[in-house]
Amino acid sequence: MQIPFLSLKLINKPFEVEIQNIVKEVVEKGWYILGEKGKEFEQNFAKFCGVKHCFGVANGLDALIIILKASNFPPSSEIIVAANTYIATILAIKQAGYIPVLVEPSLETYLIDSANIEKVVSSKTKAILVTHLYGKCCDMNSISHIAQKYNLHVFEDAAQAHGARYEGKIAGNLSDAAGFSFYPSKNLGALGDAGAITTNNDELAEKILALRNYGSSKKYVFDYQGLNSRLDEIQAAILNLKLQQLNLDNQYRREIASIYLNQIKNDKVILPNIDTINDDVWHLFILRTEYRDNLIKFLNSKGIGTDIHYPIPPHKQKAFEEWNDKSLPITEKIHHEVVSIPLNTALTKNEINYIVETINSY
Ligand SMILES: *Cc1c(COP(=O)(O)O)cnc(C)c1O
Repeated sequence: MQIPFLSLKLINKPFEVEIQNIVKEVVEKGWYILGEKGKEFEQNFAKFCGVKHCFGVANGLDALIIILKASNFPPSSEIIVAANTYIATILAIKQAGYIPVLVEPSLETYLIDSANIEKVVSSKTKAILVTHLYGKCCDMNSISHIAQKYNLHVFEDAAQAHGARYEGKIAGNLSDAAGFSFYPSKNLGALGDAGAITTNNDELAEKILALRNYGSSKKYVFDYQGLNSRLDEIQAAILNLKLQQLNLDNQYRREIASIYLNQIKNDKVILPNIDTINDDVWHLFILRTEYRDNLIKFLNSKGIGTDIHYPIPPHKQKAFEEWNDKSLPITEKIHHEVVSIPLNTALTKNEINYIVETINSY
């Protein structure tokens, strides 16, 4: 059996005919950027998340940059962030003109460890930017509690958590503002780059709306120094279509996760935390093992594709030379030991069983 880690072609197969019709419709209409399809998607996604405002942007990185710029903190303010997040979260802080302060995650959940946040709060700290990594929401009660105590803003990087819940609320509605990515491989994926920002804050919303379009408040009038970061009509219309299926897609992901969690039995691998199995949206299914290279070789030899999210921690990247000597043992352990196995809506029951059996036979 050959099972790719993820085939974008296969996950979009059920939408193929409707996507072709959408593209044709937009081409014929002749309005390509910031139009009705974009508005419709913003309304639908705001409703999905349970928030007041949603704004389409060009990608997930821009979503975070725009939120941080709109917040207008003094230059060189410090923003607290998980050390094991995807590089975009950290780049967004830097590109908005602030200083990322890295915090170790929990080895249980792979999410920012709120017990470590308070240790790094300083007089320059302005916000905590949490990442709901792998499709699991952060411990928002503890984080909000710390934020209140020190008068900090809280923002979410929800790029891996479309539809994830925390105490009944949906990711994107758990902080002052959230950034989403609709990169093709995400739980809700476009057929190109796309992103969105959600917020309940009217003041922030007004600035975000301008910042994504050169800082323009009305045509050829510029109140802020903004970006060009707009969602196009074709991607918006495709996202509108795929959004209708997102709850069912996430439910199928939970089913696969629960099969893996119940049936994978191998002392050499550590399974993900199951405390919130039905609230998580299982963007990725992460195994942790000391024998990673060997396990990957074995799975690949049996036709099972794998990936690593992520092989090198941000503080060990050449891009962040100033951090290369820093020691963050939990983050480093995670990056040395994690491996992702296939979990996506194209997997068949047969393939899922084969993946379980193969891992059990390792
Ligand atoms: C994908 C991703 C991003 C960036 O999204 P882009 O659309 O690729 O810019 C940011 N943060 C996390 C956690 C992601 O997974």
